[in-house]
Amino acid sequence: MDKFDERFITSTKIADDSEVDNALRPRSLDGYIGQQKLKESLLVYIKAAKLRGEALDHVLLYGPPGLGKTTLAHIIAVELGRQIRVTSGPAIERAGDLAAILTNLGDGDVLFIDEIHRLNHSVEEILYPAMEDFALDFVIGKGPSAKSIRLNLPKFTLIGATTRAGMLTSPLRDRFGVIYRLEPYTHEELKTIVMRSASVLGIGIKEEAAIEISSRSRGTPRVANRLLKRVRDFAEVLKKQAIDIETAKKALKIMDIDSLGLDVIDIKLLRTIIEKFDGGPVGLETLAAAINEDANTIEDVYEPFFLQNGLIARTSRGRVALKRAYEHLGIKPKGGAQISIFKDDLNEDK
Ligand code: ADP
Repeated sequence: MDKFDERFITSTKIADDSEVDNALRPRSLDGYIGQQKLKESLLVYIKAAKLRGEALDHVLLYGPPGLGKTTLAHIIAVELGRQIRVTSGPAIERAGDLAAILTNLGDGDVLFIDEIHRLNHSVEEILYPAMEDFALDFVIGKGPSAKSIRLNLPKFTLIGATTRAGMLTSPLRDRFGVIYRLEPYTHEELKTIVMRSASVLGIGIKEEAAIEISSRSRGTPRVANRLLKRVRDFAEVLKKQAIDIETAKKALKIMDIDSLGLDVIDIKLLRTIIEKFDGGPVGLETLAAAINEDANTIEDVYEPFFLQNGLIARTSRGRVALKRAYEHLGIKPKGGAQISIFKDDLNEDK
């Protein structure tokens, strides 16, 4: 485990998350909070597929980690009344591994491939006819006597999840009939998730405390659930019947998570842009080297939240700290340079 993985607020999974994720996962679309638009259309597609007795179209779910992609895949299988087989891009090493998985599916079953952008090329190639024609193509023999054999597969639904839709090849992306981008959750939605999770975990929580936790959860249910679990530890040690606002605040302070949900590493990153690079623009690689962090991690995990919250902007010249970052950290912009950068905010270049 590297230092990043130990952060409370990381939306990627950390060591003890799998157990919590599974325990707290809602099992039906009704229990799945938020993502209203997505749910409405999905319900129609599921009903239509069931009425026609056909498999649901292949679904691509994309968005930052911890927003509920895996949870949704499980729920889709439940709503379809079918089995789900779960795997991930890096776990399927050879084309034969995928062929084995596909031939073992039942009619209408769901195959969930997490991190689908990490499938290797030879595996991806056999996925194309599988998705399009529900068939596997094999070549037997070599040279002039080589024969192509087609093996029919059950009609399955592929659900792919990715944090990086841009890294998917277009032939793969084009084969998904339904593409959804998961959105960060509002504080109100997260509050509902926290209250529900507390009840599943068997601990009382005051509404104010749930609001406090959700406002620091960076729009991410996984973070909200994780913070709830840590706060619960404090409440138990302090012998509280239910988590109240004082306990929540105290615990979050000890965890070093500020009012926006930023932790010490986030603050370090923002301070580095502002203090070391005069507010930017600074290139991603330079920034990564300055804080001794992986550039992909910065891009996948820190930045989405910073961008959504207007703390930084990506410009063609690099990352710049925005007014809100200065305000949040209580640092006064130096003038000239930063003011023109704020004007540049409009020229965001993703
Ligand atoms: P992802 O696959 O996008 O990384 P997960 O589906 O594993 O995210 O979600 C992480 C945890 O957050 C789940 O265990 C679940 O408890 C919770 N969660 C995610 N989305 C929702 C939601 N819409 N409603 C309630 N809980 C959710």
